[in-house]
Amino acid sequence: MLHVNENYSKIQASYLFTEIAHRVSAHQQANPDAKIIRLGIGDVTEPLAPAVVEAMHKAVDDEAGRKDFHGYGPEQGYAFLREKVAKVDFQDRGIDIAADEIFISDGAKCDCGNIQELFGNDVKIAVGDPVYPVYVDTNVMAGRTGKSENGRYPGLTYLTCNAANGFVPDPETAAGCDVVYLCYPNNPTGAVATKEQLQKWVDWANANKALILFDAAYEAFIRTPGIPHSIYECEGARTCAIEFRSYSKTAGFTGIRCGYTVVPKGLMAYAADGTPVELRPMWTRRQTTKFNGASYITQRGAEAIYSAEGQAQCKATIDFYLENGRLMKEALQALGYTVTGGGDSPYLWVDVKGDSWEFFDKLLKEANVVTTPGAGFGKAGEGYIRISSFNSRENVLEAIERLKKVL
Ligand SMILES: *Cc1c(COP(=O)(O)O)cnc(C)c1O
Repeated sequence: MLHVNENYSKIQASYLFTEIAHRVSAHQQANPDAKIIRLGIGDVTEPLAPAVVEAMHKAVDDEAGRKDFHGYGPEQGYAFLREKVAKVDFQDRGIDIAADEIFISDGAKCDCGNIQELFGNDVKIAVGDPVYPVYVDTNVMAGRTGKSENGRYPGLTYLTCNAANGFVPDPETAAGCDVVYLCYPNNPTGAVATKEQLQKWVDWANANKALILFDAAYEAFIRTPGIPHSIYECEGARTCAIEFRSYSKTAGFTGIRCGYTVVPKGLMAYAADGTPVELRPMWTRRQTTKFNGASYITQRGAEAIYSAEGQAQCKATIDFYLENGRLMKEALQALGYTVTGGGDSPYLWVDVKGDSWEFFDKLLKEANVVTTPGAGFGKAGEGYIRISSFNSRENVLEAIERLKKVL
């Protein structure tokens, strides 16, 4: 008889997004003429940079002819892209990461989940609260969490991120954990972590033979000088951290699909008898066995992000989103709200001084504006809503006018 992986039945249904969709469609049905503005979007809205489009068109032409046709590429990614990544994202910033430590993929979400194959099933996992749900659900599927009780999995350690700790948890709260997911700039809170805060985590991980899985999907939004773009800006991070990067929010690649993972040489995990085992060859093995690489066309597009034009064009798009965020943050602060995020991130995390679903309903019903209730990202998200800067300027300005009327 075919048995299912029963861990799947432990996954909590995505109550958050189904419930939002349900409430929005009920509201639209009751008010057919309402022009609803969605500020809950976690997807980009602006098109690809012209430099990327041009490179991808050229890559299609390569594939159309015998001379420059590319079939299967290297599973770890083409050297032309890995070398640019290593140089521009790391070496030019004074960070010691080499091209053969970069693994190109079809996005950070897959890598965040797949990386767990390298770890034993008994490793203790810590996640932030609130959290990007992928870190939690992939560990539930792997059987590391147990059954959810009152919205929390007994096998996970939840690191509370709140106003008191500036939305950056302290390593002391992860005592006994082997793997900790950190995401800065953060989704959903928009908070950034300082070098000192990240250094504390790195020192803790090295001292405890633990691993940091650092999700830097939003690093390109950082504008404040001194805020680390990479965990490897911290001393000692090469021996305790894996970093995930994505072109999704950086360069509008949510529909193209490309990102990469950094696994430094000499990064170790341990066998049952304590023998150190290097993770990089294991990840190489995993990728070569189960992944056949991001497409040639995609990687040529990603390469173009690193050209002078590509860099300028992508920066301009991110500046546009950041300006959306600045306008909304300023308006909310003028209305008396405390807002985290924006500035170095596309997300605003608004303290609503009350119940997050009630506030969500008020904005939906009175302003026809959709937000994301913080409670959906975890217990510590209660009392907040997330507002996304991924939208047109027209919608942002209109939403601000409506918020001013109802708040
Ligand atoms: C959007 C996002 C990603 C990107 O995932 P892709 O699979 O590369 O599109 C990764 N982590 C977080 C926290 C995100 O919000």
